[in-house]
Amino acid sequence: MNSEETAPDRRQLALVFDAPKRGKPPKHWADLSVDDRVQAVQTMGMPKFRAQQLSRHYFEHLNNDPQEWTDLPGALRDELAEQLFPRLLDPVRRLSTDKGMTQKTLWRLHDGALVESVLMRYPKRTTMCVSSQAGCGMACPFCATGKGGLQRNMSAAEIVEQVVDGARALRAGEIPGGAGRVNNIVFMGMGEPLANYKAVVDAVRTIVTPEPNGLGISARGVTVSTVGLVPAIRKLTEEGLPVTLALSLHAPDDELRDTLVPVNNRWNVAEAVDAAYEYSQVTKRRVSIEYALMRDINDQAHRADLLADVLRRKGSGARGYGWVHVNLIPLNEVPGSEFTRSRTEDMAEFVRRLESRGLAATMRDTRGDEIDAACGQLAATES
Ligand code: SAH
Repeated sequence: MNSEETAPDRRQLALVFDAPKRGKPPKHWADLSVDDRVQAVQTMGMPKFRAQQLSRHYFEHLNNDPQEWTDLPGALRDELAEQLFPRLLDPVRRLSTDKGMTQKTLWRLHDGALVESVLMRYPKRTTMCVSSQAGCGMACPFCATGKGGLQRNMSAAEIVEQVVDGARALRAGEIPGGAGRVNNIVFMGMGEPLANYKAVVDAVRTIVTPEPNGLGISARGVTVSTVGLVPAIRKLTEEGLPVTLALSLHAPDDELRDTLVPVNNRWNVAEAVDAAYEYSQVTKRRVSIEYALMRDINDQAHRADLLADVLRRKGSGARGYGWVHVNLIPLNEVPGSEFTRSRTEDMAEFVRRLESRGLAATMRDTRGDEIDAACGQLAATES
């Protein structure tokens, strides 16, 4: 036998042995497709109709504890809790600010990994910012999450559970402002969502599937934010999921972006912007360009002009520059980092220059700063 034939075997074995070490979480109802759920209940010896009943408890009533599902026999509840509804997220700490309208939760996963999610209630909508990985491997030097490296990918159910928890708290009236619903989901918590592609897409499908088989949140309310993993953006373009794509650009030129968003060394500004533009054309969804303003790093007037040029290159035709919207974020300062927030006047000039060149630009608010819950501040430590 030559080495070419033996190689695939070695890989397969390695895969099987590696899985537990990577801390793969137990399978959960929210990891399964609708068909798989029917199969799962049948495998456990239950009639088919139970699948809908369980989905109603979980996705419609937002109740993730089978022990409370009193329309089911007790023995079955135990079995379900063990086999299909294991507890995936354990709340370690909840911090709130903005009179309770912003709430950050630190979660412990089954293997001890820590992640965070943030709920932000506004007058007309409520947004959940969710994590897709424990840690992050993208190493952006201005982001707290990147400092700790990547621990592991989260499963689809671990992602969905963050949303279920927020939706449940809102519906139960635990957030000031009366009972409410989650309208927006942003994949802007810990991790690079497109580096955990399958779980993220599975989670999005479940989030947008109507009740009782999913959470019934409109795809228009879902934003997936990426550093610009071009092949994954292309793949997402073909999924037929009209979610909003956010591209974390942070610099219009490769020289600077290579240092701020290291993945730029792999896929550069032009390639990332091309992929984002294609995404907008196919999905008819306006792309967001994320740009954190860092004092004397990326906030110069000439960079605003260059950013406008880079984006306008794509924007001709009947739709004008409507394919893109620039989201400027005053940098949230991270302890031990050399990067600081831009001066107010420089931020204002940056916006003015983009607008004068016909680009839509808004300054994002920095909710949660006081509890380290703002963009780039999620580091998930217990202390
Ligand atoms: N990995 C994904 C999603 C997580 S971060 C991504 O990078 O897009 C969500 C957004 O917060 C990104 O645009 C990210 O660049 C930005 N961000 C990171 N650190 C920040 C900081 N210190 N201040 C402001 N925004 C930051």
